[in-house]
Amino acid sequence: MRFNNFIGNDYIKKQLLPLFLQNKVPHAIILVGEKGLGKKTFAKIIAQRLVCNNTIDNNPCEICLNCKKVENNTHPDVIYPEKSGALQSYSIATIRKIRWDAYVAPNEASKKVYIFSDIDNMGIPAQNALLKILEEPPKNVFFIFTCVSLSNVLPTVCSRAQQFALSNVDTLDLQNYLLKRYSEKSEENLKKIARISKGNIGLANNLLESSDVEVLMDGAKKIVLALCSAKEFDLIESVGKISENRKDFFFALDFLLDVFRDSVILSVNHKGFNESEYAKILEKKFSIKQILKLIDVVYKTKNYLDNNVNMSILSTYFSSILFGEAYIKK
Ligand SMILES: [Zn+2]
Repeated sequence: MRFNNFIGNDYIKKQLLPLFLQNKVPHAIILVGEKGLGKKTFAKIIAQRLVCNNTIDNNPCEICLNCKKVENNTHPDVIYPEKSGALQSYSIATIRKIRWDAYVAPNEASKKVYIFSDIDNMGIPAQNALLKILEEPPKNVFFIFTCVSLSNVLPTVCSRAQQFALSNVDTLDLQNYLLKRYSEKSEENLKKIARISKGNIGLANNLLESSDVEVLMDGAKKIVLALCSAKEFDLIESVGKISENRKDFFFALDFLLDVFRDSVILSVNHKGFNESEYAKILEKKFSIKQILKLIDVVYKTKNYLDNNVNMSILSTYFSSILFGEAYIKK
């Protein structure tokens, strides 16, 4: 993959790309950012650029044997060290092996790259063991680490690596990416997904590839209709349909939040934000104060979802509290 095909994060590319031309790429790089932002993909592009035989415009050529092997995760000099244990992280034994292996000359490329993912899960003794090689790295050996947060990474490790923080991409950029990648899907739905994913490409892809988006969106619309027509049984039934598994329930609640927020914008601006008919129905039926309370119920339910609360209890809780906020005066 080329750096310019990696959406957004232009400021990182601006900092990093000139370093390749000046032969000043740091021996250790930490890519930080939330899940789904493409840290592992970006690490792979860096590795590809480091071992490529035939770079084009300071990007990996994508066609030489080195590039192809990196792409297929079969390059002997681009190494993904083995993870083990309950936390699926790197053991001291693995790090010791790497400390020895790093001094062995590369097999096929002129450089060797080790890619470690999620180092926030790595134990302190293993990080300390790693430190030894980061202090005096062999020539032409590079370490790329990814993590969600630096808080569990030793300051001594951080200080020996250059950090780059990946960020969420612009919603419009994500929208264009989704329209191109999933051209067979409804444009309106893809725009909605770009919005609820808040610029997180991994989240959007996950939603489109492993959930039935139409069913979830339809579920959210039915909840709005059941709320507006005060049909509690319909509400319970619709919530039941979207809460069969945790991940789908989470996404369906995001679609519901999208409609609720639209209706708030509608009541403030008196003008449709994205002209959703369900937002209009909601806005006619309830006051802003009531809709804000409904939004609060959705946030609380999402929080419970994050904390592994039993799904059938949560589904019942959500239906009854949502209906209660809409119709039962306190
Ligand atoms: Zn190449």
